[in-house]
Amino acid sequence: MRSVNIKQELLKELIERGALFFSSHSGGKDSQAMFSYLRTMIPKDQLIVIHAHLPEVEWEGTVDHIGQYLNGHRFEFCQARKTFFEMVEHRQMWPSSSTRQCTSDLKRGPLEKLVRQICRDTGRNLVVNCMGMRAEESPNRAKKPVWKYSKRNSRAGREWYEWLPIHSWSEDEVFQCIKSSGEKPFWTYAEGMKRKSCCFCIMACDSDLKLASKLKPELFKRIVETEKRINHTFRAPTKSKGSRTLDEVLGSSESSLPAR
Ligand code: SF4
Repeated sequence: MRSVNIKQELLKELIERGALFFSSHSGGKDSQAMFSYLRTMIPKDQLIVIHAHLPEVEWEGTVDHIGQYLNGHRFEFCQARKTFFEMVEHRQMWPSSSTRQCTSDLKRGPLEKLVRQICRDTGRNLVVNCMGMRAEESPNRAKKPVWKYSKRNSRAGREWYEWLPIHSWSEDEVFQCIKSSGEKPFWTYAEGMKRKSCCFCIMACDSDLKLASKLKPELFKRIVETEKRINHTFRAPTKSKGSRTLDEVLGSSESSLPAR
C-alpha cells in the first residue's frame, strides 16, 4: 500500500468532518487508478465519481467503462450546453494549449457546476475534488501543487480543496494499480493509443493522432473539413514546421493553409 501524499491526519479530519470526495474520471488510466486508490481510503458514502461527457469527440464506451468498475459508488456525469464543434464554429478557432476552452468550458465548468449541485442536494459544504494528473506527464503538471485550497470555489459557505492523489506515480504504477484491482484499462490502450483523452486531442502526439485517424475516420474527415472552412489548423503552429493541417501533420497531404 502506498503512503498518502497528504498528511494522514488531514485526510482523517476531512473524512470525520463529512467531506465529499469527488473522483474526476475521464475513463483514462490515471483517473481509473486514482479512483481505485481512493476506494481504499475514503468511505463509500463520501466518494462520488464524476465525469464530463463530450458527445461526438469522446471515445465510444467511455461512460460504460467507468460504470463497469464503480464497485457500488455513486456515479454522476454532466455535459456542457455546447458541443466541442459548436464551440469551434462559434469561435472560428480550435482551442490550443494556451487557450484551452475545451477544458474550461466543456469539462471543468460543467463538473464544478455538478459538484455544487450535489453539495446543495446533500447539504454538504466540504469538498475535496480529486484529479488524476501526474508529474511525469509534463513540466506544467509537475509544477502543480498536490493539495490546494480553492479560493475561487470556496463560496456560499463551501470549503473546497483540490487534490492530486497520484501526482508522483509512474505510468507503470498506474497500470499495476488497475491490474491489481482486477480491472482492465480502457480499450484504446490495447489499440496502441498512449493517452485516453478526446479521440483527437489538440495536445496529442503525432502517433496518437495518426492512430485515431484510423480508428475514427469520419471524425478525422470532419476535423479536416472544419480546418479548411474556418481557415485555422487543429494543431497549433510550431517554430520548426509552421502551420500544418491535420492531414499534413499525419503525412497524408501536401496542401497547406495560410498562417493565421
Ligand atoms: S482532451 Fe484535449 S481536446 Fe479534449 S478537452 Fe481535453 S485538452 Fe481539449
